Amino acid sequence: MYSAGRQFLQIPGPTNTPLRVLAALAKPTIDHRGPAFAAMSREVLAGMGEVFATAEPVVIYPATGTGAWEAALVNTLSPGDTVLMYQSGWFATLWRKMAEKLGLNVELIEADWRSGVDAARIETHLSEDKEQKIKAVCAVHNETSTGVTSDIPALRRAMDAAGHPALLMVDTISSLGSIDYRHDEWGVDVTVGGSQKGLMLPPGLSFNAVSAKARAAAKTAGMPRSFWDWEEMFAANSNGFFPYTPATNMLQALNVALDMLREEGLPNVFARHTRAAEATRVAVRHWGFETQCSVDAEHSSSLTAVRLPEGRSADALRAEILASNNMPLGNGLGQLADRVFRIGHLGDFHDLMVTGTLSGVEMGLVACGIPHRPGGVDAAMRSLSGNSQPAVFDKGSTAAQIDTSANGAAA
Ligand SMILES: *Cc1c(COP(=O)(O)O)cnc(C)c1O
Repeated sequence: MYSAGRQFLQIPGPTNTPLRVLAALAKPTIDHRGPAFAAMSREVLAGMGEVFATAEPVVIYPATGTGAWEAALVNTLSPGDTVLMYQSGWFATLWRKMAEKLGLNVELIEADWRSGVDAARIETHLSEDKEQKIKAVCAVHNETSTGVTSDIPALRRAMDAAGHPALLMVDTISSLGSIDYRHDEWGVDVTVGGSQKGLMLPPGLSFNAVSAKARAAAKTAGMPRSFWDWEEMFAANSNGFFPYTPATNMLQALNVALDMLREEGLPNVFARHTRAAEATRVAVRHWGFETQCSVDAEHSSSLTAVRLPEGRSADALRAEILASNNMPLGNGLGQLADRVFRIGHLGDFHDLMVTGTLSGVEMGLVACGIPHRPGGVDAAMRSLSGNSQPAVFDKGSTAAQIDTSANGAAA
């Protein structure tokens, strides 16, 4: 049955795909061994370097983010190697399970899923590794299950302070293109990214940005690999080609998405996400709820995970909002199932989509009878317009006489 109006896809990825990107996907597939393709793939590889803020090579796989996780591990490590992982949430847990399945020995730092990577704990752990058994430290920059962003420069400083030579690998699947990230400046060895979140593409592409140190480690790394092998990719990429049939139309679309990010300017893109996140938190606090992230400096700009009061079902709320207003929201993952719902505010997104999304949530709260303080959307609107005070409406006045001074407007 036709459902009027567009769907508000407010999950924290896949995100809304803009028309320009969809149009690029729909263009005829071109010869992946011809000159037009080579010219395009060079542009795309250079553009991805800008997004990762790296002068080092970037590898593009026709795979979801999970594939790029695997590529990072199998290119740099040997069977039985030890890696240090920090359990910041569900995605960190999945990466750990993958490492174990691949035959790596994982040392795990347990954490509460409400805060980011604790650099001091990493430093202590590495300092105790006198034999330098640990070959890599793996962390998730933006934990999509909790809405927490970790301080990667602090993690780098901790590793340096411990004087430990392990590689640093960072998952930026839900932050790349929406939260400031700098592969080179922050001294990261392998950065993992994906297409379907900040980059505004459908799922299907993923990335590794590779430091010279990681590339050197790959020379002696003994994990079996074929499809994921960086060196074959670098050799083909140097001529603008791929070792196998690339995802041609996804690359066409990525080239357009990179143009869009460049036109807006990455600093503006990041600021737009920060503003959306702040407004969302203003609404959440106004309603009287907690965010899953409990550390002020670590709130994610790309999504907000909201905790409902004890005994209230986040899944029932999401189902109501989907049925009534055609707006999917993110579910709680792992131990947070039914306890939190997640609002995605990333990708191709503007202020009215923030307020529209929050309106859908507030209507859902009413429909589900979940006690809350009304007016969260109003508070978010004031946040977005840079005002904390509502404009005063004096009962006796006409519209022309309304005191707009609180909005900073001329009298
Ligand atoms: C989405 C996501 C993944 C998983 O990526 P897939 O594309 O589903 O394989 C991994 N890590 C983080 C932080 C994510 O947000």
